[in-house]
Amino acid sequence: MSSNFHPDGTLFIVSGPSGAGKTTLINRVREQLEPLGITLYFSVSHTTRRPRAGEEDGCNYHFVTRDTFRAMIDGGEFLEWAHVHEQLYGTSKYEVVSRLDRGQDVIVDIDFQGARQIAQDEHLNERSLNVFIFPPTLDVLEQRLRDRGLNTEQEIETRMQKAIDEIDAGKDFYDYVIINDDLPEATECLKAAVIAKKLQTKTALESIARMAERFREERDGRITGKR
Ligand code: ADP
Ligand code: 5GP
Repeated sequence: MSSNFHPDGTLFIVSGPSGAGKTTLINRVREQLEPLGITLYFSVSHTTRRPRAGEEDGCNYHFVTRDTFRAMIDGGEFLEWAHVHEQLYGTSKYEVVSRLDRGQDVIVDIDFQGARQIAQDEHLNERSLNVFIFPPTLDVLEQRLRDRGLNTEQEIETRMQKAIDEIDAGKDFYDYVIINDDLPEATECLKAAVIAKKLQTKTALESIARMAERFREERDGRITGKR
């Protein structure tokens, strides 16, 4: 059976304040889209921050020293990188671009500064979709950060301050904004955004040209067959 979704690789960028629910939504969407034939590869970022309890190197993040991170910046190894909450975070160019070039879809969870860098990259911009995840209110965001139990009071304070800046800074380059209040509803919204992008012609010019070529060959075969 042929798939409805075009086979070109697309980069899905999910960003938004820490605690808004990006990780939760990405995990649910990846799991629920797989049976429909959309596999989203999660790009594991590099960071200088320390692993939290339960986090694994190479799985949640590649945990590296500042020296290693700086050497990677100098070597042009990052697609984007940024200072976030006093630490460095970056997306590996190789990991993302090699997958996109093989026609695979990639999803990243990055902050708005990284999303803006990718939006300004004209080659990547047309192959990517920017989705911003909003909390319903700042109070809910604070509560989620507390309930998650991963951050100190000081870290929660920094994250709340950044959230306010982020909501303002991101508005110009996001394709979609999803308010993550009811989790099943927000999951459906993110799935819909991914599915819509995988049906969009603008990002699938090559595969549409190949499909047209196949149809022409099929038509010519029918004409020859009828003679
Ligand atoms: P982020 O990746 O954006 O930092 P998380 O996915 O870790 O956020 O979510 C932060 C906390 O909020 C987690 O404890 C998660 O279980 C919870 N959470 C996420 N979405 C919802 C929601 N819609 N309703 C209630 N709790 C949520
Ligand atoms: P945490 O340390 O809580 O896992 O993540 C903190 C913030 O860093 C989150 O907002 C997350 O989106 C962002 N982040 C994670 N990886 C990257 C990355 O590779 N680049 C950028 N710019 N931000 C990232």
